[in-house]
Amino acid sequence: MIYPIVIYGHAVLRKVASEIDEDYEGLGQLIEDMFETLHYSDGIGLAAPQIGKSIRIFIIDGTPVGDDEPDLANFKKAFINAHITERSGDIVPMNEGCLSIPNLREEVMRESRVRINYYDENWEYHDEVYEGYTARIIEHEYDHLDGILFTDKLNPLRKRLLKGKLTAISKGKFDINYKTILAGQKIKE
Ligand SMILES: [Zn+2]
Repeated sequence: MIYPIVIYGHAVLRKVASEIDEDYEGLGQLIEDMFETLHYSDGIGLAAPQIGKSIRIFIIDGTPVGDDEPDLANFKKAFINAHITERSGDIVPMNEGCLSIPNLREEVMRESRVRINYYDENWEYHDEVYEGYTARIIEHEYDHLDGILFTDKLNPLRKRLLKGKLTAISKGKFDINYKTILAGQKIKE
């Protein structure tokens, strides 16, 4: 099942998401559906709040950028109840976009290296270190679980310049090929 994507301005994107239990009903199907939604919308990462579920799951499928980023060529993972325990390396700029903020890309500063622990879809525990582009996607998706969007991380001037554009996006003024949920619209269970 392909979920509609919740768009900037919707309250669910600002909530701190909750951890889930191993016996969370329909977990396998949900993760499968998240991957299907991600492929359909041509993204490389998706967090559960972006489909209206305030739970601590995000997924990454780096296949679309695999030609340019060999580390991501076969990188397809689900991160459940993840915790970033260490951020290190240089703070570097990188261009980011977000399915919840259509057609907007900005340079965002983040640490180049993260250590993260999480459970995968088979409820196996992992404690891993990532760098570069992979770390970047993890940091972006992880922020969604805490109600943080990449536009929050821009400098005050840039934020001010983008205010009008973000307001327009929140009202549905964008052209994309996936279904969306705007602020105030109900999320179907
Ligand atoms: Zn995002």
